Amino acid sequence: TNHTFDDRVSLVTGAGSGIGRAMAVAFAKAGARVVVCDINRDNAEETAASIGPAAVAVAADISDEASVAALTEAALAAFGRIDVLCNNAGIMDTMALPAAITVDQWERVLRVNLTGTFLVTHAVLPHMLGQGSGAIVNTASEAGIRGGAAGAAYTASKHGVVGLTRSVAWAYAKDGIRCNAILPGPTMTNIATGASFDPEGAARLGGVLALGERLAQPEQMADAALFLASDAASFINGAIVPVDGGWSAA
Ligand code: NAD
Repeated sequence: TNHTFDDRVSLVTGAGSGIGRAMAVAFAKAGARVVVCDINRDNAEETAASIGPAAVAVAADISDEASVAALTEAALAAFGRIDVLCNNAGIMDTMALPAAITVDQWERVLRVNLTGTFLVTHAVLPHMLGQGSGAIVNTASEAGIRGGAAGAAYTASKHGVVGLTRSVAWAYAKDGIRCNAILPGPTMTNIATGASFDPEGAARLGGVLALGERLAQPEQMADAALFLASDAASFINGAIVPVDGGWSAA
């Protein structure tokens, strides 16, 4: 255990699986109490149980305003404050190109990935402003800075997350609140489990995404998020940080 986050509370969304679960575990190892949020209650409880009494599981849907209000209340009821918010929950699209994606798919992906990230941020910011401190780390994606790393909806949603990151960073820099984003490259998680792909989009994107031997582990994303949320990054605000082993440098 290092003690970087002693006396701090971290709220991680999408913490029932993959990158979010690794973040929750890493924050707890660094001394934080952790609010483990996921839309999947069983998985959130599994993460929290693996951490122990320093964690509480909260089932919530980030795309639903009432659910987000209940999440914030549950977090404050459990631990009294929120020092770190990791907006990590997200869903993939079908890799459909702009002409092929349906409006329903577009709206669902934008609703979860972008509006969901906004809703949780919007709910937590007043508490951070009241405390005079806070650190937000958004999980965007390589698809947040390029056009050929995912389908149209996912790409637009993650560009939106990058924009929201910069807006929050700029707006509250003088209030002790920092906001940064990580851009994971392809990472070993459950995000593609059960996914169905648009054949044309998947074929066009396949070349870009064929990085089999360079897949990241979720813990490598958690390490980056921990750094950005920590005092070691006290003057890093509005940074959009690729965590991709150099993929985006090519
Ligand atoms: P994952 O599917 O393993 O985990 C995501 C978790 O988010 C799941 O437990 C899921 O139940 C939860 N979730 C989904 N919708 C939710 C909602 N509305 N409310 C609350 N929780 C919800 O996937 P992951 O790869 O760990 O994804 C985490 C983040 O990383 C996502 O934002 C994703 O877009 C991003 N990302 C992943 C990769 C990758 O290659 N895995 C690459 C770039 C970015």
